[in-house]
Parts: sequence; structure tokens; C-alpha cells
Amino acid sequence: MRRLLILGSTGSIGTQALDVIARSPELEVVGLSAHGSSRELLSQAREHGVGRIALVEAGAAARAAEEWDGEVLAGPDGLERLVAESEADLVLNALVGSAGLRPTVVALAEGIDLALANKESLVVGGELVTQLAEATGATIVPVDSEHTALHQLIEGEPVGAVERLLITASGGPFRGRSASELAGVSVADALRHPTWAMGGKITIDSATLMNKGLELIEAHHLFGTPYERIDVLVHPQSIVHALIQVVGGASLAHLGTPDMRVAISYALHHPERADVPVAPLDLAALGTLTFEEVDSETFPALALARAAGEAGGTAPCVLNAANEVAVHSFLAERLAFSDIAAVVERCLERLGARSVHSFDALYAADREARALAGELVSERAAA
Ligand code: MG
Repeated sequence: MRRLLILGSTGSIGTQALDVIARSPELEVVGLSAHGSSRELLSQAREHGVGRIALVEAGAAARAAEEWDGEVLAGPDGLERLVAESEADLVLNALVGSAGLRPTVVALAEGIDLALANKESLVVGGELVTQLAEATGATIVPVDSEHTALHQLIEGEPVGAVERLLITASGGPFRGRSASELAGVSVADALRHPTWAMGGKITIDSATLMNKGLELIEAHHLFGTPYERIDVLVHPQSIVHALIQVVGGASLAHLGTPDMRVAISYALHHPERADVPVAPLDLAALGTLTFEEVDSETFPALALARAAGEAGGTAPCVLNAANEVAVHSFLAERLAFSDIAAVVERCLERLGARSVHSFDALYAADREARALAGELVSERAAA
């Protein structure tokens, strides 16, 4: 029996993970957390026989405690306690944004293996997170379609055999448009993803291609590959998730129907494999798979992320924090779509890249970038 703790269980990845777990008698849930969806979290806790939950919003935690006789932990500290005291074999971190970094640090410090859907833990925490995992012997298995593909491709290769990594991008709902055509797009337009059903933040990141930029940084840290050996290619059908080029001239690809339960199941069962109820890949029905270069003029976010990754230090943290503020401002209709990347670029110019020796330095850089991005959004809203 493998004991699992799921952080962010009411979100898109969390609910799909519970679907996977319900079909896997060898997986047991020992704890769940959500931001503020107390009713849904309680219903999940009852269904999976969980005795301990955490809610980040204090009001939601108080409501849950009134209705339930299990243990309810409250606030960000409660979330950290849930992880530290879980005695879990594996933590699935499916939180959204840099708020996922602290629980990642707590899990790894306890030596608990991590199924990581919170890519920001690696984007922001980079070297420190991977060093911590190495120090305690905890493993990190990614829950991101491109990275689960890379993980499966690389795992079978001898050290030194992999020359290049390539991750694909669907191109999002605005593929093929020019920069001027993106100026007035609406929130509803941007939320219409062509191939993946996901949460709001990541869907907007897919429309700007910032998601691919964050994934580039994530791949760099997960696999220890220099940025100049990681490529990004647009592939609108989202069937080929990643490729590796190996010594000797071959390229190996990972293909699959776009369904996150495949990546989730892989991470929860690794190194075993388990059945997932997805339709087998039907290449004849698909007929054609197409590939094209990224249009970096229309989608500047990817190049911003690559530059921030290469600069290192606090730069990826600043990139991510500014982007989180800008995307939430766009979703609240306080910022134009094409200004998301502009706000991120301005924050990177103003705050630069400082070297990082502690997680506290990262938390401080995150706060500073959020404050500056908030100011920049307000200036634009007032203009
Ligand atoms: Mg992905």
C-alpha cells in the first residue's frame, strides 16, 4: 500500500488524481488540501476515508471544522503541518503558482517522494529544490505531460547518451495570429484551449506560451540539461509530448492522447505502471501530425523565460511572480492580454537577477516582484 497526500485536491489535477486513485486499490489517501473549496474537500475526504485535511483560507477551514469530525488544519502553516506530519510515502503537489514551493520544501526535507504538478516549485526554487531532494534522497517525478514524457524517455538511457531535449507546445488558441491581432482578445477567447482541459491560470499561460517558458526552466532543473540543449516546437495536435535526441543519430518520441491522468498515474505508480481508462492512440484516425517553429514575435513570453532561466538566481522567481500577477489581472479584466508579457519584461528589467543562497531570499524576491507587478498593472489600468 502506498500512502498519498494530495495538495490542491479540488483543482483539475487533484480531481483527476482522485479518479486514478479510485481505480488503484494499492494507493491510499492519507490527507487532502484545498485553498477554499471546503464543501468539495469534505466530500472528497468522506469518499476516500481521509481523517485529516487542510484549507488555506481560514474562513473555509472554520466552516469545514463545524461540519466535520475529522481534523481540519488552517492557513499556510496548517498546510505545511499537513505535509510534515503526514507520514506519507508520496506527496502529489498540485497547487497553482509559487505558493506550491513551501510545501515542496517541507516534503523533500522530510525525505518524502514528490509527484510534482506544481512546476513553479522548480521554476522558482530550481537548484535549491533539486539539491534538497539529493540531500534527503527524496525523488521528484514530474506530473506535466512533456516532463513525464521526458522522464520516461530518459530513464532508459545510459548517462551521457542524451544530447538534446525537445518539448512540444500546442501553440494555444491564438496560434497563427499576429501580435496586432492579439491586442484586444477577451478572457473567454484565451480560455478556449484547443487540446487540453486545464485550470484557468495554466490555460492563459498556454495562450501566451509562458507555460512553455516555465516548462523549459522546469526541464532544465529536472534533468540537469543546459538551456542551449532544450528546444521547443509547436505541435498543434498535442500527441507527441516530447522527444530526446540520443548519441548515434536517433531521436526517440513519446506519444499519447492528451489526458493528464496518464501523467498522474505514471507519477503515482512509478516505477510500476497501472491501467488508465484512456482511448488507445489511433494514429490512422489522426492521419497527420504537424510541427512548426514558435512565432517569438507574437509570443514573447517564451524568450523572456529562456533569458530568465539563463540569467538564473532570482530571475526565474521574478518572471513567475510577475506573470502570476499579470495573468490574474488579465482574468479580472484589469490588464490587456498583450500586456501580460510586457509587465513581466518590465519587472525583470527593474529587478534583475540576484544570486540565491536560501529559500527565504526566494520568498522575498517573490513578494517584491508581486508588489512591483501590481503597481505596473495599476498604472496601466489608470492610463
Ligand atoms: Mg505541460
